[in-house]
Amino acid sequence: MPFKPSEHQAAGHAGCLTDDENGLFVKITNQQEIDFYNSIYREDQEALTKGIEAPEGSKLVDWIPRFYGTLNDGDQLSAISGTSPTPLPNGKSYIVLENLYSGYSKPSIIDIKLGKVLTDDSADSEKQERLRKVSESTTSGSHHFRICGMKLYNKSLTDLPKELPHLHETIIVRQNDLNDDVYLEYDKFFGRKLNGDNVKDGIKLFLSNALPPELYAMMVEVYWKRLQLLYNCLLDHEVRIIAGSLLFILENDLARYPPNSKELEALNPLTKPAFTNDDESDDDDEDEAKEMNPLSSLNFIDLAHAKHVPGEGYDENVIIGVENLVKIFSELKTELE
Ligand code: ADP
Ligand code: MN
Repeated sequence: MPFKPSEHQAAGHAGCLTDDENGLFVKITNQQEIDFYNSIYREDQEALTKGIEAPEGSKLVDWIPRFYGTLNDGDQLSAISGTSPTPLPNGKSYIVLENLYSGYSKPSIIDIKLGKVLTDDSADSEKQERLRKVSESTTSGSHHFRICGMKLYNKSLTDLPKELPHLHETIIVRQNDLNDDVYLEYDKFFGRKLNGDNVKDGIKLFLSNALPPELYAMMVEVYWKRLQLLYNCLLDHEVRIIAGSLLFILENDLARYPPNSKELEALNPLTKPAFTNDDESDDDDEDEAKEMNPLSSLNFIDLAHAKHVPGEGYDENVIIGVENLVKIFSELKTELE
């Protein structure tokens, strides 16, 4: 299967791959991440088999990318969801996920890392010390979340965002030669420089970028609701997710927004949109599938240090971060009233 470098990435290690046609996103992983994805999908399968119905957004599976299996050196799909793949010794393992930006035409993306504690026991003492200092000096420490990276669609270089100019040297990426579209990259130092006084502005920059006021207001509302659903979901799960991220993606191509508000709602579902690419794929279905592509989404990613802790209660380290994000979105809502 041919893969190419991912067109978009908000943060993290380089070297992620996509196969856009199938909407796959492939990144280097570890056994812990594979195990965690497998366990979440196994649980979901078991619940489905038993006929247990859960409210929208109440299951972890509602918040993570679809998981298709793993790839090892040599490009062989070694497993599908539900089985236990073994990474090749000495070789790198890759995880094959749903490409979360597939279906977007001009996506803007923000990666927000959750938690005040950013390492578990697997990190050596040098890394623990280094990341403890990062946490202490950033909103990771004060708010249990930090903007890790951001990539914003920009119509043209004459129209750069005015917000927070002193906090970053915006990196400009021209995506293609066919039009004047550019993308602005905000690296990890941007997010590290934000503090309690302006982290809200950083988030607002993402949400308001290239959107008219009414669509900005819609994004504030839908993410506020999503974050509350996610908060409730996390309260119900005994997990520890160290250094996991929330990935927000929204559409900045205004042509993809339908004028009809009912349709808008359908294209901006609270959790994952219904699975569209079923086996039948005659032309009509393709059109329908396109229509189902969302205008914005929220997903939990980066689960390389996630595990289940039965009997130990919810993940306070992460939940406080989500709670603080809900507060910020509430404030953004209030500003609009
Ligand atoms: P790491 O931080 O360990 O390199 P992440 O899982 O955080 O790995 O992924 C790095 C970046 O790749 C994220 O910031 C995000 O922009 C992008 N990314 C991760 N998973 C997906 C996905 N399923 N679909 C699209 N983009 C993704
Ligand atoms: Mn990451």
